Amino acid sequence: MGINIFRKKTFKGGIHPEYNKGISIREPLHDLKLPDKIVVPLSQHIGTPNEPLVKKGDYVEEGQIIGKSASFVSSPVHSSIYGTVTGIEKEFHPVLGASLSIAIERDKEKSSKKYVKSGNKISSREDILEKIRLYGLVGMGGAGFHTHVKLSIPKDKSVDILILNGAECEPFLTCDHFLMMRKTKEILRGIEILIDLLQPKETYIAIEDNKQLMFFAFENLMKSTDSQELRDIKISILKTKYPQGGEKELIKAITGREVPPGKIPLEVGCLVQNIGTAYAVYEACDLDKPLIERIITISGDCVKNAGNYLVKVGMTLKDMVDLYGIDFNHDFKKIIFGGPMMGISVPHMNVPILKSTSGVLFLSEKYIKNFEESQCIRCAKCVDACPLNLLPTEFAKHVKKERWADLENLWISDCIECGACSYVCPSRIPIVSYVKEGKSVLRKFKK
Ligand code: SF4
Ligand code: SF4
Repeated sequence: MGINIFRKKTFKGGIHPEYNKGISIREPLHDLKLPDKIVVPLSQHIGTPNEPLVKKGDYVEEGQIIGKSASFVSSPVHSSIYGTVTGIEKEFHPVLGASLSIAIERDKEKSSKKYVKSGNKISSREDILEKIRLYGLVGMGGAGFHTHVKLSIPKDKSVDILILNGAECEPFLTCDHFLMMRKTKEILRGIEILIDLLQPKETYIAIEDNKQLMFFAFENLMKSTDSQELRDIKISILKTKYPQGGEKELIKAITGREVPPGKIPLEVGCLVQNIGTAYAVYEACDLDKPLIERIITISGDCVKNAGNYLVKVGMTLKDMVDLYGIDFNHDFKKIIFGGPMMGISVPHMNVPILKSTSGVLFLSEKYIKNFEESQCIRCAKCVDACPLNLLPTEFAKHVKKERWADLENLWISDCIECGACSYVCPSRIPIVSYVKEGKSVLRKFKK
């Protein structure tokens, strides 16, 4: 072992936006508070929506499954509090626009459940996958893909290299950094479980160089453990650059392998998991705890008490603001779920925190992009910025001219909508909006 902090890895392209991470990472964690009600969307991810397993008037326990689907590509949802179901209706959803959701009013006689290490040993890979599925784990880094699906490796494939993504490259967000500081040991335990499951030849923890203390925190713990698997993990130091946390960028930076267009990392023997998901794996497998709480960053240039907050999934942003006393300038212009580059703007605060919500930002006029676009001047800045070697300028051009078939040949489906191209474009062309439109039209053609 021994970390050389001067050997930093990176990928071609990318941008350096203002990171603004200091405003939330310096503050202590705001501990869990119990909301009087929660609203749990039955769809929190792509794939088959869950069906409700409860009805109005039912009493539910904390951690009880309240919605699930028989489909493999789905993850159950759980109640994050003890209480009574008060309704099952369509409610606002930060990603989908609307989703059938279960509203639960809290039983004020009950406090939150304590989860302790269970005596039940996990004896097989099937046990690990079953717990990950049963406890509703999804990617915690934003996309919210089902963890058990990602970890179910087809028979003709194997994982050579497991990468734990602690890059957290989106500006403002520091929830992963916070989790790494607070729960280093538990994250390592989650990684150990993932190693047992996947049996990779090599495992890397990938961290950007703006979180230097974390290199040493992980290394010190790894040195002192009895587990050879953990001692063999390598820390990969990445240059701070956006979007360093993208799967394909991480794989290229760390292994030099390129995931072919239209393919997934498994194609080149790699699998990437977010560091927050590794922590959730520890909680599910060792504590039998479903994914019902998470740390989220509240930040933005309009927030007065930015920081990281431990919250119950299903709590609305409005209740969170009231309960935790979040103080902000009321002239904010935008609320973003996620980071400023890839996050989603929401119109009000009656929006539930999802399992995959990494942060909420309150932003001023400064962050409202002026989309009065002008002619493309063919400067190629967008091409240089694209981490995936795509041709962003061509996406915009073909969408405007409705040349849908050409978009497929340009690999528009590979675009991760990172926004680096729009960020650098001097003509203010909202390339990502064109990409979204193009992808949506192609999806309709394929139906
Ligand atoms: S084309 Fe897509 S992947 Fe490339 S910079 Fe633009 S948004 Fe990012
Ligand atoms: S950065 Fe903007 S102006 Fe320059 S080539 Fe790309 S789309 Fe055209």
